[in-house]
Amino acid sequence: MRDTTTLLRRMIEESRRISVFTGAGISTESGIPDFRSPGGVWSRERPIPFDAFLASEAARQETWRRRFALEPILRAARPNRGHAAVAALVATGRTEAVVTQNIDGLHQASGVPDAQVIEVHGNTTWAACLDCGRRHEIADLAAAFAADGRAPRCDRCGGLVKTATIAFGQAMPAAAMARAEATMTAAELCLVVGSSLVVWPAAGLPVAAKQAGAVLVIVNRAPTPLDEMADLVLRGEIGAVLGEAVGVQ
Ligand SMILES: [Zn+2]
Repeated sequence: MRDTTTLLRRMIEESRRISVFTGAGISTESGIPDFRSPGGVWSRERPIPFDAFLASEAARQETWRRRFALEPILRAARPNRGHAAVAALVATGRTEAVVTQNIDGLHQASGVPDAQVIEVHGNTTWAACLDCGRRHEIADLAAAFAADGRAPRCDRCGGLVKTATIAFGQAMPAAAMARAEATMTAAELCLVVGSSLVVWPAAGLPVAAKQAGAVLVIVNRAPTPLDEMADLVLRGEIGAVLGEAVGVQ
């Protein structure tokens, strides 16, 4: 592991444009559960698809009940060494933006400016009206839900309110995907951190980077379907590997 980390450190030092693509594995080290993993939340509670959310008050209430149940974990989570290493890369100016599948806001919490985090699956730390787009705060919605048990509605237009995430069956955010592809295909070095690379179309972004000529590095605890395509694969704790490669404690 030490030799490959040294190799990664050299690759980072020698690259002028570095794209970073992150997934659940970087946040599990902050205590955020990986929903998709074996034994994870989704193996016990099947995710509720977007069309069911739109169609049924009961589905909306269940979606919100689960979201509010997660709130203490999300509130307690702090960025870890892996997030700090990514933030340090952004601070060098060589990483234009962090592309993330995560919805927890921890890259922003680690000091990466909002404008430099591209969230291809959205963000669960706030909510929005599906009709007028008005932003709603989770704490306010939780208080109202505790009082009446009804799924939240927009106080401006009466529309359905949902976390600002991309649910199963919901359209990917076109602008974010286009920006993600642009920044990843422009990179010399593409660092894929903590993603199992099984969720499409997001997993297509590192593929596009590699096809555009980037050197592809995958850092993850478990094997991924793109390992064979990668120029370097590092298996281990993300905070430790990335922290050492970037030189961040
Ligand atoms: Zn509204």
